[in-house]
Amino acid sequence: MNNLIKIISFGILLLVSPFSFAQQTLIHAGGLIDGIHNKLLRERSIIVDDGKIVAVEKGFLPLKKDQNYINLKDKTVMPGLMDMHVHLSGQFSRKSYSEGFFMNDADMAYRSTVFARRTIRAGFTTVRDLGDQDGVIISLRKAIAKGWVEGPRIFAAGKAIATTGGHADPTNNLNQKLMGNPGPKDGVINGPYEARKAVRQRYKEGSDVIKITGTGGVLSMAKSGQNPQFKMDELKEIVETAKDYGMTVAVHAHGKEGMKRAVIAGVDSIEHGTYMDSEVMKLMKKHHTWYVPTIMAGKWVAEKSRVDGFFPEMVRPKAAAIGPLIQQTFANAYKSGVAIAFGTDSGVSAHGDNADEFIYMVEAGMPPMDAIKAATMNAAKLLKQDKFLGSISVGKIADIIAVSGNPLEDISAMKQVSFVMKQGTVFK
Ligand SMILES: [Zn+2]
Repeated sequence: MNNLIKIISFGILLLVSPFSFAQQTLIHAGGLIDGIHNKLLRERSIIVDDGKIVAVEKGFLPLKKDQNYINLKDKTVMPGLMDMHVHLSGQFSRKSYSEGFFMNDADMAYRSTVFARRTIRAGFTTVRDLGDQDGVIISLRKAIAKGWVEGPRIFAAGKAIATTGGHADPTNNLNQKLMGNPGPKDGVINGPYEARKAVRQRYKEGSDVIKITGTGGVLSMAKSGQNPQFKMDELKEIVETAKDYGMTVAVHAHGKEGMKRAVIAGVDSIEHGTYMDSEVMKLMKKHHTWYVPTIMAGKWVAEKSRVDGFFPEMVRPKAAAIGPLIQQTFANAYKSGVAIAFGTDSGVSAHGDNADEFIYMVEAGMPPMDAIKAATMNAAKLLKQDKFLGSISVGKIADIIAVSGNPLEDISAMKQVSFVMKQGTVFK
């Protein structure tokens, strides 16, 4: 039996593992959005060697002996897309509030592989996963990196950090026997010492980034969707400790006060940002804080709030109030010059639909080129990976996708991804 399992898993390994050819690959791109120039470049040749881009040249270079060839002459080629806010461990449904009682971690892990495959096939070669339970996504990240599972490169937060009763307190609304007394290990802190321990705990577990819930949220079983939930000393401790370990800090926030505190404490990104006003925008520009809007999540919860019985009664009014506002906040933030990185909160809406966010961004007044840059170079900068990712240029990792049509003329082309390469390996 054991041998059989070994043979089967070895077979899977061969099918999906990224094998590096000694050979180079030549790609002919009819159109190229390279993530750096502000226009569509015509007729370019890209050469990939050992998972990296080694040449980008004008015109269609002739195919050399021993080179593989990929013909994308009738496509628009661009860097692999990067979604800065996903949750691959789940996908929201009426059952979500109770699934923790009947699903094991292994069930969640197997299911996450399906979401990971849908995500990469939609053109997203890198994601930042902002919160899971019991390390499921840290394991998924390893499995994908080893080539056991097909999916995007993952930067994972592991368990999000909240305060008692806060948006990511895993025991909210349980009966008091089940509630127990969760602490830093479970992602619940009170005071700077526990904040410090929680960050170090995440480091120990293998997180790449720290996620905190700076204010109330829509989908948690708690009254307020926007109250501030961290004190200044807790926020400062989280930021300083995260820095010691080379980790960035992403902050879920809807309400203004919680956002202000987080920005002043020096966090790297504000997620959702619903009640962001001109004062907060000014602060964000001053502190170089990124905004990750997740318009899709807002639209999705607003739509479901109109369905009787879809959400628990505690959640429904929050979804109806907060959901519809995010697109307008995004429009204001873009106009005022806040730095924007692309993020969807997929796992609220369905995995694989991520590119819908581009349509909402353009609808709100962002030019298509800026929307694409938000999902490539800007996202790479937010991850502090812009040396390796985010553009099609010499020396970068070969994450390359192609769509039919010209997304600068019709942004819905971003939903027609026909080619996906991650680190030199073709996935679609
Ligand atoms: Zn989220």
